[in-house]
Amino acid sequence: MAIRPALKKHGGLWFGWSGRVAEDRPRTVKSVTHDNISYATVDLGKDDYQEFYNGFANRVLWPILHYRLDLAEFTRRDLGGYFRVNQYFATHLETLLRPDDVVWVHDYHLIPLAKALRDRGHNNKIGFFIHIPFPPPEIITALPNHDQLIPALCHYDLVGFQTEVDTANFARYVANECGLPWANGNSFHFGNRVVSIGTFPVGIETEAFARLARRAIETDFVRGVLESLSGRAMIIGVDRLDYSKGIPERMNAFERFLINFPDLRGKVTYLQITPRSRIGIPEYADLGRAVGEAVGRINGAYGEASWTPVRYINKAHSRTALAGLYRAARAGLVTPLRDGMNLVAKEFVAAQNADEPGVLILSRFAGAAHECTAALLVNPYDSEGVGTAINRALSMPLDERRQRHAATFKVLVRNDISHWSERFLRTLEQPPGSAEARRTEGALPYMMIQQ
Ligand code: UDP
Repeated sequence: MAIRPALKKHGGLWFGWSGRVAEDRPRTVKSVTHDNISYATVDLGKDDYQEFYNGFANRVLWPILHYRLDLAEFTRRDLGGYFRVNQYFATHLETLLRPDDVVWVHDYHLIPLAKALRDRGHNNKIGFFIHIPFPPPEIITALPNHDQLIPALCHYDLVGFQTEVDTANFARYVANECGLPWANGNSFHFGNRVVSIGTFPVGIETEAFARLARRAIETDFVRGVLESLSGRAMIIGVDRLDYSKGIPERMNAFERFLINFPDLRGKVTYLQITPRSRIGIPEYADLGRAVGEAVGRINGAYGEASWTPVRYINKAHSRTALAGLYRAARAGLVTPLRDGMNLVAKEFVAAQNADEPGVLILSRFAGAAHECTAALLVNPYDSEGVGTAINRALSMPLDERRQRHAATFKVLVRNDISHWSERFLRTLEQPPGSAEARRTEGALPYMMIQQ
């Protein structure tokens, strides 16, 4: 979603995993063009999928980079699979790569890709953007063999992060663990190259999403949901079923709200849309059970024959349906324990009616909190505090709601998705350390890679 507008604008090629697991060998690159964008994809083998994707990427890097050392399940076999698959991607990518291509690599699955390409003799400009958090070196160094993996980021020309905190954490890792000389505050020397680092908070298509929400609220689906509420206020949460999202903690907070503000019982419905993800991983099955139990407990204890406090749905919803539901809600509950950015928070704000906006309740540990400072910022571990914020959102005067919404909407329009990609690519293409970013409209075609 984040890269599509840039690819549409500049042309270029998306290269990555097809999403398929194939038995047959040899595996070859398949190319298709869809909606003016070229896609080149390769399948993964069964072992690749298990070791690279389910194993090292999603059971080691994902938890550790989200500050959850307790959930990491490290094995050397999976680490080996991770490096092997990155070599495999590099081998296929180099058949497509031209010397003047700019390569933009996305996310934690592909940390060693630039090194794999450099080892094959490619000197292209290569940038890397990590969509998830980058924790302090005190956490990263608990990853076995981190010294083989994290320094591979030094083979990129530009490494981009979601927030200043993430960027500073990486800078501290480079200083503490790699001992590389800094050229200035934003770049350091690595061999005969200069590596730049920077903060590029990912945005959304803010105005397009606002337009979508204006249409979506009129659909039969959203009208039907609103009718079913019988005039009650709606609070909405939308998250993949993932432990980083703090869903059990959020259920506790909603329960605290019902306990501490009994007058509002029966007047509010909390809709939590939570598509399941990564179902092959045991931690996700455990989480599914914990959330299901919490919902049952709350509905059993506080529900009435005519009112269900929490509506919990595992079905994925279309963007249109979500846009309409956000707009229909009085409050958006976005309380991850840790999140690189959290696009739902931004979409919720974009979808609001500026004349009568709902209130965003946002975890201070979401990357989005660095931009959405006019939201009600909360500590997701403090269920009492989040419960109080829910009450505050529901009773907030219209003037204050408008002011908070207008302030956040302005920030999201300024840093929308095209601004994000243009700024990253401009920085990648400019000579390291130069103050003025060259404008890149109409420049060479981009080659982009996303896992
Ligand atoms: N989303 C969706 N349908 C759903 C649930 C989520 O289209 O049923 C979208 C949501 O609108 C957002 C994205 O999935 O654009 C989730 O992004 P976010 O950064 O909030 O979380 P992630 O899942 O990437 O950790």
